[in-house]
Amino acid sequence: MVAVARTSGRPVSPVAWRHRGCYFRDQVRMKLLFVHAHFDDYEFTAAGTFELWHRKLGEEVERRVLVCTDGGAGHHRMNREETAQRRLREQEASARLGNFDFRLLTDSKGVAFPEARLATSPDFLPSLWREIRDFEPDYLFCPPIPGSTLAGVHVDHLNVAEAVRSVAYMINVPHAFTLEYPDGGGDARPVRTPVILNTYDGYMAGEHGHDLAIEITEVADLVADLAWCHTSQLTEWLPWVDRHNLSTPANAAAWRPQFRDVVARRKRALRIEVQGLFEVFLVTAWGTVPRMEQLIRDFPALSAGASALDRLAARLDEWRASSGE
Ligand SMILES: [Zn+2]
Repeated sequence: MVAVARTSGRPVSPVAWRHRGCYFRDQVRMKLLFVHAHFDDYEFTAAGTFELWHRKLGEEVERRVLVCTDGGAGHHRMNREETAQRRLREQEASARLGNFDFRLLTDSKGVAFPEARLATSPDFLPSLWREIRDFEPDYLFCPPIPGSTLAGVHVDHLNVAEAVRSVAYMINVPHAFTLEYPDGGGDARPVRTPVILNTYDGYMAGEHGHDLAIEITEVADLVADLAWCHTSQLTEWLPWVDRHNLSTPANAAAWRPQFRDVVARRKRALRIEVQGLFEVFLVTAWGTVPRMEQLIRDFPALSAGASALDRLAARLDEWRASSGE
C-alpha cells in the first residue's frame, strides 16, 4: 500500500499528487516565498507570476510576501513613522486585493528593521532564517546581487540579496541562530531548503540576464491594481525622486497603461522579442539546485521563446556535476 501523505489531516488532492510527483512529502502544497526590501517591490517583480500560480493550482499553492524593512524612508514630506504606517496600510490593501499572505519581518524582539539601516542590525540573518524555516517554501524569490561593481544598488535590495544568499545554507542547520531564537532548534527536524531565484532589479543597469520569463499579460491589469495600492509611492514619492521614468498617474485607470509601459520597457532592456508582458527570474545555486523538468512542470505560463532554457539547462548540469551529483 502506498503511504498517503496528509496536510492538516486532510487527504492530498489529486492535483497535489500530480503536481508534487512525490508521495512521501509531509507538506504537499506548493509554497512560494517572496523576500524583498520594501513595500511595493513584490508588485513590480513577481506578483503576476504568483497570481498565475494561484490560477493554476488554486488552494494548493500558498503565497507569502515577506518585507524586510519598515519603509520609513520612502517619502519626502512625511516623517519616518508616518511613512512607515501609511506604507504598511498600502501593502495590507494590496495583500487583501491579491489574496496573498503578507508579513513584515521583525527582529527577535518583534521590532521591524528601519529602511536603509538593515545591515546595521545583527538580528537580520537570524530573523530571516526563522521566517524561512517556519514557512518552508518550495521556491524563494529575492533580489539579485550585481556581478558588476559598476552597477548602482539600493542598499536595502543589496542587503536582502546578500542575506538570503548568506542564510541559505543555514536553513537546514537547526542550531544556527539559537542564541536569538532558543527554541529554533526545536526537535531538530530536517527543514527543506528551497530553490532560490532572483527577481528583476532595475538597479542592475544593463547587466541583467534572465533564465525564466513568465507571461503575465492576462493578469497585468490586476498587478497594476495591486501596485496602485501603493499610492504614496506612485503619486508622491517616485515622481519626486524621479528615477523610474514615471509621470504622476491621475487614477487607477490611468495607471494601468502606464504600468504596462513599465513592463514593456523592461522587456526591451532584456531584449525579449516575443509578444506579451513578462516577469523574469534567474535561478541561483544558493539553495537547492532544481532540475529542468521540475521548473518546466511547476512554473505557470513559462514562455519558451522569451526564456533562455538551453543556457539554464547547461548551467544546472554544470552545477550538479561540480557538486558530484
Ligand atoms: Zn525596493
